[in-house]
Amino acid sequence: MGRRDHSDSSSITMAATDHIFALIDCNNFYASCERIFNPGLEKKPVVVLSNNDGCIISRSNEAKALGIPMGAPLFEMQALIKKQEVKVLSSNYALYGDMSQRVMATLMEFSPDIEIYSIDEAFLSLNGFEHKNMTDYAQTIRATVKQRTGIPVSIGIGATKTLAKVANKAAKKNSAWQSVFDLVNHPYVDEVLEKMPVENVWGIGRSLSKTLNRHGVLNALQLKNLPDTWIRKNMTVVGHRLAWELRGISCLPLDMVVPPKKGIMCSRSFGKPVTALEGLKEALSNYTTRAAEKLRSQNSLAGLIMVYITTNPFNDMPYYSNAVTFSLPFPSANTAVLIRHAHQIMEKIYKDGYAYKKTGVFLSGIVPDNQMQRDMFVKEPDLVREKKLLRAVDAINYQFGSDTIQYASSGMIKPWRMKQAYRSPRFTTRWDEILTVKI
Ligand SMILES: [Mg+2]
Repeated sequence: MGRRDHSDSSSITMAATDHIFALIDCNNFYASCERIFNPGLEKKPVVVLSNNDGCIISRSNEAKALGIPMGAPLFEMQALIKKQEVKVLSSNYALYGDMSQRVMATLMEFSPDIEIYSIDEAFLSLNGFEHKNMTDYAQTIRATVKQRTGIPVSIGIGATKTLAKVANKAAKKNSAWQSVFDLVNHPYVDEVLEKMPVENVWGIGRSLSKTLNRHGVLNALQLKNLPDTWIRKNMTVVGHRLAWELRGISCLPLDMVVPPKKGIMCSRSFGKPVTALEGLKEALSNYTTRAAEKLRSQNSLAGLIMVYITTNPFNDMPYYSNAVTFSLPFPSANTAVLIRHAHQIMEKIYKDGYAYKKTGVFLSGIVPDNQMQRDMFVKEPDLVREKKLLRAVDAINYQFGSDTIQYASSGMIKPWRMKQAYRSPRFTTRWDEILTVKI
């Protein structure tokens, strides 16, 4: 899940030293989240639907085995679903966002440098952990994530982010590797690359893979071995960088800002530790402003906001880390709204007496802003009033639960609402939907 656009930089930066990257990817993430709270879904084919119950966007292994394709429209699959008794669920982003945050918080304990790449994927830099057996370390990460969150993950390790991606795919493919594959110094790197079609290499878009195919480049190994002169003549800096990444030369450093669609992350480590709540809030305001700008620049709104803080887990100071995801009453790209929620979360998770190393905000549950517009009764001049109203409604909903006010009065606003006929309860983010156990 998640995509990155490699085209935003015009030059190749070569790594000065050797790197070790791990890509941690949650297996069938949405379907796995659903299973945690509903053991009845265990070992059964499960599919999760996109917004408005349109298409299938997550499948359990059992559903994959039935031949249900990713992205298939629900109506086309109805017959098969009935016949095979496939469990169908609407997407429950409040639950997935919250589970994601728990997974990420766990991963943060295994390396000081993390890039949250999408709701279910993160890169960790394992530089400085060379003395460890990488496969063992990755298995420890896997077991810890599984134990704390119930989410199964696969881990690929490589000298570059692109190779970590390749390793991750390999880890998923061969069950003998128990979901972990280390491609650093692996004797058969080239064999693995040869088996991977070039269009499956991370960051290779449709047009680039077509160009490559036309020139007889069909697999990742062929891309790796293309002469630099040929690359310079026929490819952009994007392709060039990917070829180098496949050779083990790291050109893509960890990035703290995740671009479009799945989520926008903005976080940074502090130059020196911050202890005061006010200082953290100030930093958070900056990051939220930046994230909101990004959101608006891609014409989208966020439905979920996650804020986290952490001290440095790698010194002997007391360790504390926490994160909370809040489901916005209305998807928003309004900086003021987002900052206010960010601050409210910060006030909840902040603990006095710790030296904080990092804070960040993650906006997800992304929807296009025209969907919001289309559903509104408001005309342009009313937008200012609408914004004021939105803020007030937010405040009430924040305090009393997100559905306290569902429709604003006087026809001003009709919140953008998803069709979610089969949505599971928001077990982890709503007190009134918490899992109950009958004894
Ligand atoms: Mg995944």
